[in-house]
Amino acid sequence: MAEFYVEINAQDNDEHVVHISECSLLPSKETMQYLGSISNTKSAVKKAAEILRKQATGCSHCTPAYQTF
Ligand SMILES: [Zn+2]
Repeated sequence: MAEFYVEINAQDNDEHVVHISECSLLPSKETMQYLGSISNTKSAVKKAAEILRKQATGCSHCTPAYQTF
């Protein structure tokens, strides 16, 4: 399990990036929405999309390690 966050501000392609709490590229906490303790990236991205009602995607730096759990 990992603590997942999603960026409130979208990227240029309108997707919101999902990170784990340990990510070194994590933006400031005020610009993040906490998603909870989640077992894998796929579930976290799905939850982020539901909360924001927008497209979400996993951070390429931190989320690949949680792809298969
Ligand atoms: Zn990240």
